[in-house]
Amino acid sequence: MRAVHAPPRRRRAGALPPLDEGAGAARLVHQRPAPPPDPLGNRLGGGAAAADGPDGRARQHRLHRPRLLPRGLGGAGRARGRAGRAALGLPLPLDRLGRGRRVSGTVVIGGGPAGAAAAILLARAGARVTVVEREAAAREKVCGEFLGPDAAALMASLGLPLPSLGAVPVSRGALAAGSRDAAWALPFAAWSLPRAVMDEALLDAAARAGATVLRGRGAAGAAREGEGWSVRLAGGARLAARSVVLATGKHELRGHARSATRGQIGLKLPLRLAGPMEGTVLLLPFAGGYAGLQPRGGEGAGREANLCAALRAVGSEARDPAALLGRVASGSALAARLLRDAEPLLARPLAVGGVPYGFRHRDGAGAPCGLYRAGDQFAVVPSLAGDGVAMALAGGMAAARAILEGVPSAAFHRALDAELGRPMRWAGAIARLLEAAPGALTLAAGVFPAGARLAAARTRLPSRPRPVAGGREGGAGPVRILARR
Ligand SMILES: Cc1cc2nc3c(=O)[nH]c(=O)nc-3n(C[C@H](O)[C@H](O)[C@H](O)COP(=O)(O)OP(=O)(O)OC[C@H]3O[C@@H](n4cnc5c(N)ncnc54)[C@H](O)[C@@H]3O)c2cc1C
Repeated sequence: MRAVHAPPRRRRAGALPPLDEGAGAARLVHQRPAPPPDPLGNRLGGGAAAADGPDGRARQHRLHRPRLLPRGLGGAGRARGRAGRAALGLPLPLDRLGRGRRVSGTVVIGGGPAGAAAAILLARAGARVTVVEREAAAREKVCGEFLGPDAAALMASLGLPLPSLGAVPVSRGALAAGSRDAAWALPFAAWSLPRAVMDEALLDAAARAGATVLRGRGAAGAAREGEGWSVRLAGGARLAARSVVLATGKHELRGHARSATRGQIGLKLPLRLAGPMEGTVLLLPFAGGYAGLQPRGGEGAGREANLCAALRAVGSEARDPAALLGRVASGSALAARLLRDAEPLLARPLAVGGVPYGFRHRDGAGAPCGLYRAGDQFAVVPSLAGDGVAMALAGGMAAARAILEGVPSAAFHRALDAELGRPMRWAGAIARLLEAAPGALTLAAGVFPAGARLAAARTRLPSRPRPVAGGREGGAGPVRILARR
């Protein structure tokens, strides 16, 4: 059995660990250091990105490169790179490191919001953590990119306030069906930010906090071994760990697939519109699905918008931007008007299949101990809520706290389920109403905008994260992980 890291250095009780874990920490690969800041402290852009096709394979698209972190951040990563303890972004031979050391630390599988947030907290607390992210570089993901106040607060608590990453504000909601439309002021501040930018900033923060980030290495499996876990990487290397955070999002890990049976298709198509969208997120139902349209943050701020759709079945929409635009436009006069002169920014939409909206993980009898699920691997909220990222961040952070406090994974899962229940129930109910009676819902939102505001608020996480209560691996009983406001 191989362990990856050197044993933890002893710290004075209560003392905060140094952010980079100092000179003694063994590492496989450090996340590439933050690139040098430009003279204005801004970030760069323009590069390759990808998302999955309906067949689950990655597609490459030229879109936004992740923006770099603001001036002054990332120095620790550069220093480590110069010191030669890790090649920049190049994996070191796994089998030459940490051989024979004791099992400790956590392997986080998946470097999306859930996995990266877990890694940041674990590393900042001085724990050993390795993130395994199968993509070698940042990429676009099928996501509406709407971020509510809960996501914004969680990102800020991680030291990544959304405006500093180039997010643009969204202050109004709107719904259109047939010839009707309605708009209302959102009851909270919300934002739009490309996923490639956000995910890269999170992974960068994890590396700067001292996590080992393996890029371009997928996990092929994870199994109990002795007291802990053995995570098998594509190519055959193994990582040994005390606990595992399963954060592979929409993708199943062999042997740990979600129990969800049905799934929808998610499509994403960035667009250039005839004019700028005025800080509004639009919900556009059509037969067999719905789409969200909102201004695009990051480099696309201005006339660019992000169209993201959830459909029960697709034909040419998954390949042909015009077909997707036509399908969305068929649902309302407003959509037809807005999309008539829209210019797709991709040759074909990004797509992901089998999205199990409404899925909530429940541990069955004999569920493995020490495997903490977070993000879409724990629960999948209907996209119209625009709260999946907040739930992923909160779940990842809560998983980290649970691991640090020794809370058993089963107790963690029960507590997280309780916290995510409200947005899941509200989003599910709204999704059903939208499908059954889009016109009536639009009429109701127009006559009673306070109801639309209430519904928007109820699809948010009801609580802010706080440190977990104590507990031991193998113990029992529900543990409150997130405090009510
Ligand atoms: C159509 C649609 C629209 C949406 N719109 C919004 C929205 O507007 N706002 C919002 O908040 N949420 C939205 N969501 C939901 C949101 O995208 C997800 O809830 C969120 O991305 C979940 O984060 P995650 O970290 O769990 O997973 P992901 O973001 O999917 O990240 C998982 C990571 O794991 C990696 N990975 C996968 N398998 C492996 C492996 N075997 N080994 C190593 N790495 C692996 C992947 O490369 C990926 O980087 C939308 C979803 C859909 C489908």
